Amino acid sequence: MSRIAYVNGRYLPHRHASVHVEDRGYQFADGVYEVCEVLGGRLVDERRHLERLDRSLRELAIPTPMTHAALSAVLHEVVRRNSVTDGMVYLQVTRGVARRDHPFPPPGTAPSVVVTARRTDRAAQDATAAKGVAVITVPENRWPRVDIKSTSLLPNVLAKQQAKEAGAREAWFVAPDGTVTEGASTNAWIVTPDRRILTRPAEGGILRGITRTVVLEVAKALGYQLEERAFTVAEAHAASEAFITAATTVVMPVVRLDGVLVGQGVPGPIATTLRLKFHDFSEVS
Ligand code: PLP
Repeated sequence: MSRIAYVNGRYLPHRHASVHVEDRGYQFADGVYEVCEVLGGRLVDERRHLERLDRSLRELAIPTPMTHAALSAVLHEVVRRNSVTDGMVYLQVTRGVARRDHPFPPPGTAPSVVVTARRTDRAAQDATAAKGVAVITVPENRWPRVDIKSTSLLPNVLAKQQAKEAGAREAWFVAPDGTVTEGASTNAWIVTPDRRILTRPAEGGILRGITRTVVLEVAKALGYQLEERAFTVAEAHAASEAFITAATTVVMPVVRLDGVLVGQGVPGPIATTLRLKFHDFSEVS
């Protein structure tokens, strides 16, 4: 079955789904995106993702392409047309098509909207989570506005490739002061030996992950001790557990950091519990 994408008002097979060569997303990475988990054919935390999309658009002064209701209809339709039961839906909005010139295009230039969806293998993901993943650290080299979910992801791409070549799943960016900011496509967490869960404040050089927001709620509801504060690589090495969060991975235990075992080198009980309980707290639509 051919995959179907939504491109600027049309549902098209992928081989015909394309944007203009002068789309500013293509030329300048002048766009933003969202990724929602799809579970049982429904969207997980769609409302929060659309609210974050609005914020990203506002911060970059990209016009809102359509109402939440219209966007939601497109997201669900792309999921339906691709028969995605478990997987993800990707939404990208760029500043639109215009003759290549750095300043914004003329007012009235329509933003471009692309939506794709694909299946993921839940059993394989759960098997990975049961074993845990490896993470490496890399120097933070991104722009300071990582709070915006921009398609401009070159440092993240390079960091992920470095992780892959090292046999790891993720790379954690490390700020000059030795603290971990976040992963190339995930938020970073540790559990201290005295069972406190630490994750960096969203105001401090990270993307405010939707999964992160929900995991904070889950952790509170389960009565875990939480601290939103930056932690160092040294603290991560001394941690009893570590994990990463994102819409596509939910909660993924980290068992190795820069080649050194985290805790016992197996998924910890807190990360495992948060993964198990996550969908009791997320919204579906
Ligand atoms: N941090 C970065 C840099 C990301 O790219 C992502 C997701 O793509 C996240 C964190 C996690 O965000 P969310 O939980 O909303 O998927």
